[in-house]
Amino acid sequence: RLKYSIIITIFGVSGNLAIKKLIPALFNLYVHNELPARFMIVGFARSKLTKADIRDRIGELLCSRTNPDFKCKTRERKFWDHFSYVRGDYTNPADFKKLGIILDSIEEEFSRIQSPHSESAHTVCIGDIGDQHGRGHGDKEEEDEEEMKSRRDEEDEDEGIISPCAAEELAGGRRAHHAGTGDHSQEEQKALSGTISTLSALDNDVCHRVFYLSLPPSLFLITSQHIHKHTRATHGNTRVVVEKPFGRDAKSFTALHNGLTRCFTRKELWAIDHFVGKEVVLSLLALRHANAVIEPLWNHHNISYVHFEFSEKIGAEKRAYFDKYGIVRDIMQNHLLQVMAFLASEQPLSQHSEDIRDEKVRLLRCVHEIEVTDLSLGQYYGYGRSKPKKVTAESGMKDEKDEKDEKDEKEEEEECEFPGSITPTFACALLKVVNTRFFDVPFIMTAGKGLSTKCTRIHVGFRKKPASLFPDALPNELLIEVQPEAKIELTLSFKKPGHGIKLQQGSLSLLYETGLNSDSRFLAAYERLLMDVISGNQTLFIRDDELREGWRIFDKCIKKTESNPDVPIEYYDFGSCGPQHILKRVQKIKEGL
Ligand code: NAP
Repeated sequence: RLKYSIIITIFGVSGNLAIKKLIPALFNLYVHNELPARFMIVGFARSKLTKADIRDRIGELLCSRTNPDFKCKTRERKFWDHFSYVRGDYTNPADFKKLGIILDSIEEEFSRIQSPHSESAHTVCIGDIGDQHGRGHGDKEEEDEEEMKSRRDEEDEDEGIISPCAAEELAGGRRAHHAGTGDHSQEEQKALSGTISTLSALDNDVCHRVFYLSLPPSLFLITSQHIHKHTRATHGNTRVVVEKPFGRDAKSFTALHNGLTRCFTRKELWAIDHFVGKEVVLSLLALRHANAVIEPLWNHHNISYVHFEFSEKIGAEKRAYFDKYGIVRDIMQNHLLQVMAFLASEQPLSQHSEDIRDEKVRLLRCVHEIEVTDLSLGQYYGYGRSKPKKVTAESGMKDEKDEKDEKDEKEEEEECEFPGSITPTFACALLKVVNTRFFDVPFIMTAGKGLSTKCTRIHVGFRKKPASLFPDALPNELLIEVQPEAKIELTLSFKKPGHGIKLQQGSLSLLYETGLNSDSRFLAAYERLLMDVISGNQTLFIRDDELREGWRIFDKCIKKTESNPDVPIEYYDFGSCGPQHILKRVQKIKEGL
């Protein structure tokens, strides 16, 4: 267990992301004893709220996923002792000064519980700032005897009361962990080469501060400036987590990046893409580089296409954000490109985060800018326009009925989510990777909303065996499913049981959630990513040069399609498989036609 302390400040804690994802993820880490013993979450927002209000908004979200036998409610009560709410405005320096004072006082509390064996060791327990209803120091509710006992047991755990043997394990574990991450503050560097007691003493002094910008992007820069001026960490690292979107195009990304880097170093900036935190995405690295059977197949001699497929049943749900960005920026330029970088990059020099990210950038630099002819766009009916009625009258003949139909159509048009909008809700992009390994292999991306299924899949198609004994055998495909199930499946041709040799297709399948050892824990994306921020591992966070390459690949093409009203858009029914012509084109590319 990590021995330094951590304070996580969530800006925009009143919002959807914080309530539905971030706080539940932190709770799960807490329940599994993965957070440092001394941690505090500070929620910051403008809304007039108390800690109790936030607790109410989260409702049953914290305990709904845990085993019913597990004493979740008890843990939940204790978890909230590690939370406080600060009301403030993101643009007001005085509110950040106040926040800075609060963070300093939490650190002071932490320093008072330095030694894990200290008699005075206790959970830092700060109520709401100005919250009359929150649970403050020692404010315990009545509990029955059994709960009190389990609570005492848990407290012993939380306070880091560990045997010397466990301390040794912990120190060893940390050394191993750091060998793979490289985020070493000066103190940590010293600790790594020192004795266990030195390590403990140094760790006890370290308090990292994480600032999570769970805010609309328009507030990123002003909030960053205030964090930089008033609330930086003084006894550890400052880590600022920024949510997507990282700009709307190359130019706005550069402006955002320049603004952020005026306040923070590359090591301090953590650009998060929750997609990359999904189990299967990280396991692509292992699949590619830990299996001797994969490597000889992973090139243009054997692979005929790679298809990244993303589909959602829900539509844009009238979100203005989506209409401004569209499906290409929302899904392809970031999420799918990241998946592609993990799948196609060369073996990194080591598991060090910089080596892995270096290889991803190298791969992205080999990807050509997309041409307009390589991007096909679609939109579901009911988004910007309604489905036209079947023509009943002879063309050119206007009668009363036609006029009525026209009126109906106009009314329906007005009922669309974004009347008149040509923002794509479906897109297909063809990417070309110009390197020795993948030369001429089409990398296809399709992404859409308002479709019949919800899934994210990678299909790696293999070429047919030349001069085969079975010329009709279907080509093999490796399916890597990110969601709904996390699984890897290889389709093969088998002999059908019975007389003679007839072929049938079957698959070798690895289902992550049920197919792995019982001691492995299936993490939600935000759990993994938050733990990485806390422990200082930047592997899954996107470096600025990756983001820049992402915009280079897509930006010009998006702009050209947006500025040309004649770019064709194929319309499709909500809840269908998608635009039929585009899907047929995808199939043809896969078949090499
Ligand atoms: P949100 O609910 O729209 O905003 C978060 C908080 O920011 C709000 O509760 C509000 O808090 C404050 N806020 C909103 N608009 C504001 C404005 N115009 N001026 C000042 N304060 C404002 O956002 P979210 O859905 O939580 O998402 C947060 C960030 O994560 C966004 O950048 C989003 O793009 C990104 N993201 C979200 C998700 C998701 O699942 N929701 C997924 C991926 C990325 P107060 O008014 O109380 O201060």
